[in-house]
Amino acid sequence: MGKIATVNPTTGEIIEEFQPLTPDEIETKLAQAKATFQDYRRIPMDHRAQWLRQAAHILETQKERFGALITLEMGKTIQSAIAEVEKCALVCRYYAQEGPRFLADLTVTTDASYSCIRYQPLGVILAVMPWNFPFWQVFRFAAPLLIAGNVGLLKHASNVPQSALAIEEILLHAGFPLGAFQTLLIDAHQVAAIVSDERIKAATLTGSEEAGMSLGAVCGHHLKKTVLELGGSDPFIVLPTADLTTAATTAATARLMNNGQSCIAAKRFILEKSIADEFSQLLVDQFRLLRVGDPMDRETDIGPLATPSILHELDGLVQTCIHQGARVLIGGELSPHVGNFYPPTILTDLPLGSPAYHQEFFGPVALLFPVEGLEEAIQLANSTPFGLGASAWTNDSTEQDRLIQELEAGSVFINGMVKSDPRLPFGGIKRSGYGRELGVQGLYEFLNIKTIWIH
Ligand code: NAP
Repeated sequence: MGKIATVNPTTGEIIEEFQPLTPDEIETKLAQAKATFQDYRRIPMDHRAQWLRQAAHILETQKERFGALITLEMGKTIQSAIAEVEKCALVCRYYAQEGPRFLADLTVTTDASYSCIRYQPLGVILAVMPWNFPFWQVFRFAAPLLIAGNVGLLKHASNVPQSALAIEEILLHAGFPLGAFQTLLIDAHQVAAIVSDERIKAATLTGSEEAGMSLGAVCGHHLKKTVLELGGSDPFIVLPTADLTTAATTAATARLMNNGQSCIAAKRFILEKSIADEFSQLLVDQFRLLRVGDPMDRETDIGPLATPSILHELDGLVQTCIHQGARVLIGGELSPHVGNFYPPTILTDLPLGSPAYHQEFFGPVALLFPVEGLEEAIQLANSTPFGLGASAWTNDSTEQDRLIQELEAGSVFINGMVKSDPRLPFGGIKRSGYGRELGVQGLYEFLNIKTIWIH
């Protein structure tokens, strides 16, 4: 992505630039992380839980400040940035509460006089994170990591350095020891050498397929475990028995939240043909209501995209679809204003072979696909390389069962939008990645699940 810098997406102004860490500085942090782990793993679980609660308290009491920082760096609306900070507090409290129970020895009856499963930390874990939820992506990694006794290093996206530094500061102020969670301000090309270091035991990356493949390859070479959370082109299926008004209102939120830059945003709207026109009109009406503008203004619904390259990439995909014959129901033209603004856009009559069928549209663009019925809806939903989260709308229980069973996705939401929840595992299949975050499954990803057998 280039320079490590805060650049205001609303104005294009460079706010602050940072130099990447030197090899010596990286070495100091790695050594610190390893040394901290030796003590940290022995700290009683209630201390770690208490520090997580304290982190939650800091997030809650300073949510306006951290929210403003998120908005400044990546352009989401201030209301949604504050909500993101609140959700980070929630995930800290969740693992503070449930972690000790999930991590307790699990007795199993066997031929031993006593046998059990013990959950032990692995050591230093590297997280490579994206800018779209600059706090949430990190806290959903950090909270289970820290309760389990691991320590973390964060390579955050180059356009959110101040968020990255703020997170390190929050965790230090909460009481976690120096070295338990450190931010590395580094370029993407510095990641391979770091993850190859024997002190790093495993890694996770949330981001694009290319970045995931690159990290996965290095970790594979060194036999280190990875969890990869990659892109998506999630379906939003609407069938005739659905409540169309609720579905259309939810569809607008599911597509446009975070200025359209969410991995689990609904991107392809698959509509049974008897309701397609009515649903499309309802969706256009919803899109028309939205105010695009300064994300710091509490009245704004949609702010700018995070960077000029995301803006131009998205516009390129839209223009290719239009050139190939797609019809624009609303939007579709680049704004002449300063800043990375893109209008809420709906495309229909998408020709086979256009990017709409196989690429991720990372911005406020809805793609409509009328279909004959359930069979074709499932087949089209499954036809992309991705498989993150699917949303399907029907009040017919037989249809619901088939959708739950047959959609190729890490999650299926019926009559609701796909969202993450600390209590439920989150992740994808196919080219959306592998492994899980959140819930009990997310906690177990970076542990030595040790079998104990005593005669
Ligand atoms: P990206 O370019 O892959 O960046 C994500 C992170 O990876 C950044 O920290 C980036 O650093 C780093 N990176 C890039 N290339 C790398 C490489 N070769 N080796 C190691 N690290 C590398 O992703 P993006 O385009 O900014 O983010 C959007 C993508 O993330 C979308 O596809 C979205 O769907 C996906 N995403 C997925 C989830 C999920 O949970 N499945 C959640 C959110 C987003 P620099 O910034 O320095 O390049």
